[in-house]
Amino acid sequence: MADKYMLALARHEQAKQKVDGLSRRIGLAISRCQVVVKSEDYSLPNNERAELWDDKTGKHKTHLWQAFQVLEPSSCGYGEVHLCEDGMLEYLRPSNDGCRHCYRAYMLIKQRKLARAELGRARLAIRALGKQAMKEVGNV
Ligand SMILES: [Zn+2]
Repeated sequence: MADKYMLALARHEQAKQKVDGLSRRIGLAISRCQVVVKSEDYSLPNNERAELWDDKTGKHKTHLWQAFQVLEPSSCGYGEVHLCEDGMLEYLRPSNDGCRHCYRAYMLIKQRKLARAELGRARLAIRALGKQAMKEVGNV
């Protein structure tokens, strides 16, 4: 029978695998974006391919990247803000002329955010057990 330590470790491992799996799927979705595909087309002139990269971050200027750059007037009337979650979805939505690969990546990123929160909770649970164990066995 699994004890509380095994359960905590299994919970952590499960959460870690979920985060890692989502990260792989995000990478795969982004690699299918036409901006990334085009950047790997070596028949294109260098300057044309270079324009597909953001020098500051070293990342491709995917549609997802573009959506993160969009600024719109803030609702309070002062300054500009980045797109909210609904705005991002609207910008990337394939039925709205968006990129289905970047849309998928964004949906997966949202899932990963939740999975990372669970991973954080699982890590805290292990730490709590560790503190409890230290009290019982003292310094090892
Ligand atoms: Zn894209």
